[in-house]
Amino acid sequence: MFIEPHIKKGWIEVICGSMFSGKTEELIRRLRRAKFANQSILIFKPAIDTRYDKTNIVSHDATSIPSIPIQHSSQILENAIGKDVVGIDEAQFFDDQLPEVCQQLALNGCRVIVAGLDMDFQGKPFGGIPHLLAVAEYITKLHAICMKCGHLATHSFRKTTNQAKIALGEKEIYEARCRVCYTEGIEEQNAEVIPLKASSVTAIK
Ligand code: ZN
Repeated sequence: MFIEPHIKKGWIEVICGSMFSGKTEELIRRLRRAKFANQSILIFKPAIDTRYDKTNIVSHDATSIPSIPIQHSSQILENAIGKDVVGIDEAQFFDDQLPEVCQQLALNGCRVIVAGLDMDFQGKPFGGIPHLLAVAEYITKLHAICMKCGHLATHSFRKTTNQAKIALGEKEIYEARCRVCYTEGIEEQNAEVIPLKASSVTAIK
């Protein structure tokens, strides 16, 4: 009888979506299941994200799981080789080496689960997530509920006119919105900004 040699094969899963779509909850759910099966797991998050807790991944419903805050994605490789499952939260904030790091882990037999925002507040692809979506075996796009109209939301609308790419915050700064309500919000913000500029020019004259 031929028995295939047991070769441990890894893969990449991406959980993406807007803010308030439950990405971290889904990541935690998958990691918990692996832990119940006595698989070795390790979780990383960018050191930049300290909204709730320095060492725990904490989702909006306060379900938490211990994680390692790191500065650079290369630190994931140093720590995670040999683990069964590696979770990476808020992946959009990592450097551009992250996709390569994930591929290396998968080649080494790790199941890699990456969660992150697919679009920034301007509706543009965010960090390494588009690359990861291209190379992942499995993709889950989660939706929030539009806080304006109640339809499915895909966009993270920033309620302030702060233009920095990264502005950490929650409900006080962001709203999940559908495509239409997001676009309307941007148009309203632009309409508010233009008269301000016009009046400041007049004042200088
Ligand atoms: Zn809407």
